[in-house]
Amino acid sequence: MADNFDNPCLACGACCAYFRVSFYCGELEGGSGGFVPVALTTRLNDLMACMKGTESGHGRCQALIGELGRPGIGCAIYPNRPTTCREFSTWLDDGSPNPECQRMRARIGLMPLAPRRSASG
Ligand code: SF4
Repeated sequence: MADNFDNPCLACGACCAYFRVSFYCGELEGGSGGFVPVALTTRLNDLMACMKGTESGHGRCQALIGELGRPGIGCAIYPNRPTTCREFSTWLDDGSPNPECQRMRARIGLMPLAPRRSASG
């Protein structure tokens, strides 16, 4: 879910209920300076963890609050979400929608996103 508050993610949430959201264990809260709440994660191995609920894919992250595809959906740990979530962009650099967003939106019955002007355009 993107970190721009003027964005369609706040009425979507589809990506948070589909992908396995895995990340390096160093991002977990605790001794090494991480920040992702351990209680909302599952340890995969010595190096990797994932958000609870997303272990097998096609599952809803337990940090996701609200109704999919409806205004008000959001991430309960937004400031402390893992890098995997931070790096998933709604739009590509050229202003075209992320094809994965389009695919996820279609799965929950939302309209495709329109392209937006690129920074240079
Ligand atoms: S941690 Fe937040 S942004 Fe990441 S998948 Fe879960 S609900 Fe979505």
